[in-house]
Amino acid sequence: MSEGLRVTIWNEGVHEKTNPKVSALYPKGLGHQLAQYMEQVPGIASVRVAELDDPEHGLTDEVLENTDVMTWWGHTAHDRVDDAIVAKVQERVVQHGMGLIVLHSGHHSKIFKNLMGTSCDLKWREYNDTGEKERLWVVDPAHPIVDGIPEKIELELAEMYGEHFDIPQPDQQVFISWFQGGEVFRSGCCWHRGLGKVFYFRPGHETLPIYHNETILKVIANGIKWAAPTRVAGGIFRGNAEPLEKME
Ligand code: ZN
Repeated sequence: MSEGLRVTIWNEGVHEKTNPKVSALYPKGLGHQLAQYMEQVPGIASVRVAELDDPEHGLTDEVLENTDVMTWWGHTAHDRVDDAIVAKVQERVVQHGMGLIVLHSGHHSKIFKNLMGTSCDLKWREYNDTGEKERLWVVDPAHPIVDGIPEKIELELAEMYGEHFDIPQPDQQVFISWFQGGEVFRSGCCWHRGLGKVFYFRPGHETLPIYHNETILKVIANGIKWAAPTRVAGGIFRGNAEPLEKME
């Protein structure tokens, strides 16, 4: 992919309009904060932000056809995402190899549940209305998603997500989180779905400055690169096949 990756950052964009705590942290919206970082990452050619309130949620056929990797942040309005758009995103992942990075409360998005096939439920807590300490431990130091990342990432304040996380067994487990209150959580998980790759990454609660943390942003950028589509020369053919060798 010499031309570089075309990235679409999908952001629900509701909390920013209704909660002053969130708009103070992300005046242009959480999606633009992610976009601003990704724009300067080598290997990423273009970054677009799409939001729920845009026509077709910003995910027109043209946008989908020109996206190599999409990130997804949603929380309070998962049910407002049109099923027809979800089906198109799913098709882009499974049949065309578009990478998908699902962030934080995107665990309950239609697209993630659709690709996982499970409830994706989990435990959660916003201790004292603010949060508690989280340590994300790298459990696969050879994985490309942790290239340049230290053995652990500490967040002084985070919303707790705890096991059991009702997901299919990840193909690759990259991070496991520990929380001050005692819970643990599979906070960085990879799956293959058809031609596509999916990475779930937990941090990103909207009332905390998580997406101002350079290490967290770097993990997301690495995730985008890992999830990039591979192009099979000549395409992948299915169906009835003639033998390649002479068989008698
Ligand atoms: Zn949250």
